[in-house]
Amino acid sequence: MTKFLFVTGGVLSGIGKGAVAAAIGKSFQFRDLDVDMIKIDPYLNVDPGTLNPIEHGEVFVTDETWGFNPSEDSSFKIAEIDQDFGTYERFLDKTIHPRNNITSGQVYLSVLLQERAGSYLGRTVQIIPHITDEIKRRIRAVAERDSPDILISEVGGTVGDIEASPFLEAIRQLRLEEPDDRTALIHVTLVPYLETIGQLKTKPTQHSVKNLLSAGLQPDAIVGRSDRKLSEPAKEKISLYSNVPKRAVISDPNIQVLYELPLLFEKQGLGDYLCDILRLRARRPSLSLWEKTVDKFMRADEELRIAMPGKYTQILDSYISINKALKSAAAELGYEAKLEFVDTEPFEEDPEKLERLEDYHGVLLTPGFGTRGAEGMIKASRKSLSMDIPFLGICFGSQLLFIAFCRENGLEEANSAEVDPETPHPVVDLLPEQKEISQKGGTMRLGGQEVLIEPRTLLHEAYGKEKVVERFRHRYHLIPKYVKKMKDKGLTLSATDSEERIVNAIEIEKNQWAVGVQFHPEFTSRPDNSNPVYLSFVKAAVERKKTSSEGSKA
Ligand code: GLN
Repeated sequence: MTKFLFVTGGVLSGIGKGAVAAAIGKSFQFRDLDVDMIKIDPYLNVDPGTLNPIEHGEVFVTDETWGFNPSEDSSFKIAEIDQDFGTYERFLDKTIHPRNNITSGQVYLSVLLQERAGSYLGRTVQIIPHITDEIKRRIRAVAERDSPDILISEVGGTVGDIEASPFLEAIRQLRLEEPDDRTALIHVTLVPYLETIGQLKTKPTQHSVKNLLSAGLQPDAIVGRSDRKLSEPAKEKISLYSNVPKRAVISDPNIQVLYELPLLFEKQGLGDYLCDILRLRARRPSLSLWEKTVDKFMRADEELRIAMPGKYTQILDSYISINKALKSAAAELGYEAKLEFVDTEPFEEDPEKLERLEDYHGVLLTPGFGTRGAEGMIKASRKSLSMDIPFLGICFGSQLLFIAFCRENGLEEANSAEVDPETPHPVVDLLPEQKEISQKGGTMRLGGQEVLIEPRTLLHEAYGKEKVVERFRHRYHLIPKYVKKMKDKGLTLSATDSEERIVNAIEIEKNQWAVGVQFHPEFTSRPDNSNPVYLSFVKAAVERKKTSSEGSKA
């Protein structure tokens, strides 16, 4: 019998509710219980695939692609998911199904298309009960599929948002329908510290709990996000006003390594408390493996400087899985990766700015779409190649690396049809099957796909095998005719798809380590199991650091 645990947020969004939900999941895994996660996104997009990363952070890609059928005769491919899925997969070392991301867009689409199909003939279709029934059905369907011991559903946004209210109502109904020990609710709020009076303020929390109560939801625990541990008086106040026992008021302070969060919760007894209220008979938590992982991050202190030229440099979350993959790989080798996002638009006017790339131990060219900033990214690749800085191009980054190489080798006007549709040398162009598609949501080549790796390549050295599965999200690809042409000039084709139709990876022979991959190895990288491509890139960057510091000593 699956137990349902809900995580809601109060006061502000962006305070790390996803990490709290994942860390709670980890507490159950410590006790050998099976956990699954749902992310509820109240926005009306069917999935986040059409959102700009600057608007909503990274679009995560799942391994499986889900054929979402809101009605009998309609179907959408879903593998583009909220970035919180990345947090869940990294904390829980688990592949999560795209069905577990429930958006308002999906829920409304199902109900509206079913109304047209006549499923509600004679009745008025309403938010209660039709939308709320559909939400409950989706949540229960996840529980029924794999029967996890615990199913944690995180509700995006904050309590009080208009869009979120049908979800809160559905949760209220579900809690009423299930026995008391089958559901729990944790509310995550901000507890600000006011410097001027030297005090943690609990009033915003009190207000947001009131909001939750007015939706008919009594929290079982409060997680207080703050820049420091909650003081005893703050805990007492929150306990009193929220009507939860003091042991259920949990601190979520700033920490150096995010992966420490489950251990911090464990110390405060949150895992035991949740097992008590959910009447879960679990074994004693075993923490040592996770402690080792956390320790690895704590100890990594030698700086490794990685530049990330790209276009979505305004917010940290645009490339969150890449950041995490780089940091994990570096930590594995005892280094702390210092990442610097470099906006490439200025490179287009002022090539001197490119010289700065020399200060880095590695350059990672980021994924992306469209024209803006692309020319600067191509310039950044050419410069990095000429300085032989270890270089990793991801998806768009790999396509632009190829363009840089073509330009370097006789095709000065080479470009991607995505960046310049008029280019005389479209060395990167739409995949043939993409040429007929005009619709935008869920129509790219998506999800986990086989990658066949050529022996005696850097990629083969990294993976140590010839076949892997990695995740993709693209419309364009390197045109094989041009790749063939460039082979004589020192380009290695190091991986293809299983039909040998799509170029999945290239390497630049004259460079020590310059690789471009059409896939996104960051999505399968885990804190205790770094993706081999990242590990191999970071090793090359460490080499550069070592040789350059020897050089400066001499
Ligand atoms: N815009 C490129 C494409 O569609 C690359 C996409 C990406 O970087 N994810 O193929």
